Amino acid sequence: MARTLITSALPYINGIKHLGNLVGSQLPADLYARYCRARGDEVLFLCATDEHGTPAEIAAQKAGKPVAEYCAELHEVQAEIAAGFRLSFDHFGRSSSDQNRKLTQHFAKRLFDEGLVEEVSETQVYSETDGRFLPDRYIEGTCPNCGYDSARGDQCDDCTKQLDPTDLINPRSTISGATDLEERETKHLYLRQSKMREALNTWIDAKKDWPVLTTSIAKKWLNDGDGLQDRGITRDLKWGVPVQKGDAPWEGMEGKVFYVWFDAPIEYIACANEWTDANGLTDADWERWWRTDKGADDVRYVQFMGKDNVPFHTLSFPVTMLGSNEPWKMVDYIKSFNYLNYDGGQFSTSRGRGVFMDQALSLLPADYWRWWLLSHAPESSDSEFTWENFQQSVNKDLSDVLGNFVSRITKFCRSKYSEAVPAGGAFGPIEAALIADLTEKLKTYETHLSDMEVRKSANALRAIWVAGNEYLQNTAPWATFKTDPDQAAAQVRLGLNLIGLYARLSAPFIPDTAEKIKTALNMSDLDWPTDIAATLSEFKEGHAFTVPENLFVKIDDDQRVEWQEKFAGKRED
Ligand SMILES: [Zn+2]
Repeated sequence: MARTLITSALPYINGIKHLGNLVGSQLPADLYARYCRARGDEVLFLCATDEHGTPAEIAAQKAGKPVAEYCAELHEVQAEIAAGFRLSFDHFGRSSSDQNRKLTQHFAKRLFDEGLVEEVSETQVYSETDGRFLPDRYIEGTCPNCGYDSARGDQCDDCTKQLDPTDLINPRSTISGATDLEERETKHLYLRQSKMREALNTWIDAKKDWPVLTTSIAKKWLNDGDGLQDRGITRDLKWGVPVQKGDAPWEGMEGKVFYVWFDAPIEYIACANEWTDANGLTDADWERWWRTDKGADDVRYVQFMGKDNVPFHTLSFPVTMLGSNEPWKMVDYIKSFNYLNYDGGQFSTSRGRGVFMDQALSLLPADYWRWWLLSHAPESSDSEFTWENFQQSVNKDLSDVLGNFVSRITKFCRSKYSEAVPAGGAFGPIEAALIADLTEKLKTYETHLSDMEVRKSANALRAIWVAGNEYLQNTAPWATFKTDPDQAAAQVRLGLNLIGLYARLSAPFIPDTAEKIKTALNMSDLDWPTDIAATLSEFKEGHAFTVPENLFVKIDDDQRVEWQEKFAGKRED
């Protein structure tokens, strides 16, 4: 049995994500996971919230809550929305888990032992009142360039000049407003990524099946200019994984935490440990996915992410894994996405522009969104959500092509025969031609799904739906019935069996609809078909069914205009 490990990029904790985020990693990862499971692979599909770092602290502060409480609440919110979209994670973890704390501390020790972590002294702004060092964006003051009085420590929002906190006139803490700030020496750990350049080059060169775009991005970061830079892995913050050398304290690093960029990807691994702990399994059960010395050498590991995440997943995280000099399972294939834009611009959280995941589910069932997003996935270039296109896609593909087919056949059968597969007649050359055509179309669909070609997969599935409609048009059982009820019975029997086939093949894209059909057609499972002819004679004469409720409701023009206006966002000026 093939074993497939799938991870989706980790959504950051501070708020609800928009549809562009969903289609940029989680949703296509889910499509692939569902397909691999349907084909009989053993799949472990993991995702988690990325919870540490300054933005989480700031968001918690705005919400007036302790950061741990804030993160716990937002994790629940994101988990519920993910479930609403039917994202079939085996575990949806948290980077703030104990498992990730331990593993992050373990990696830091390993990297130190391998000579890849170095202690560096630097000066940073300390606030006596707050009792802590302040990250650049926790410091505000007057811009020396334009005089704006709320310039941040890293940049002036008014004149956009890049700043150092020490450039600010009358600097103050944004936490407390305190002005008793001073520069102090502080020590930080740096990951010596530059020392791993050779190892990374070798590793990337071996990835012959990666898209050129992926390897060229990685190589550029790796080799351009001075090459890959060493990078700080610690911060003077309270919220994060405490700096330790494995189980032991790290002298001189007391009160510091690991930088979020270091601990977040380690959560891909720790999440598997959270999964075993949550399900009463043993360490061996997650290690067989992640340690090549403990059974993971036959695992194929695929990562899904937006294109902005590629450098990080081809360089920084591999430095951590390869640098540990332990046999961790490295990624085999990276599937990356461009951006989804919204109706002539970008999604904007601050302006309330675009549809966010919770809003989408309050408007329409998940399958409508899954279908549109996946069939318009931003693969070769950015793509754009427009309400016209969404309306057209739902009304045509889902309602006219798939929904109408199901409704026509089941209702016709009920009115002319009964709610059971009719007996009589036999399949002839037209049916044989359809079976041959669908066999080819299924191969195409499977190839695209295996290759993670999301849009092409959607097109191939749509072509399979269309083929059934064309069969109905050509054979017209409602006309045949008048002259040859026996032959019409055979046509209806094939039509009903096509519905069963569609449920199996459509499940990775529109799982709720597939389940509805499964229930209505009395199917025992939604297993992947291996032989079209066999699948199309699965429902025998007398097999009972019920006519399903309308599978899809069309979006009318008034509704579309209303939503268009509702999500257009507030004008800024
Ligand atoms: Zn300025």
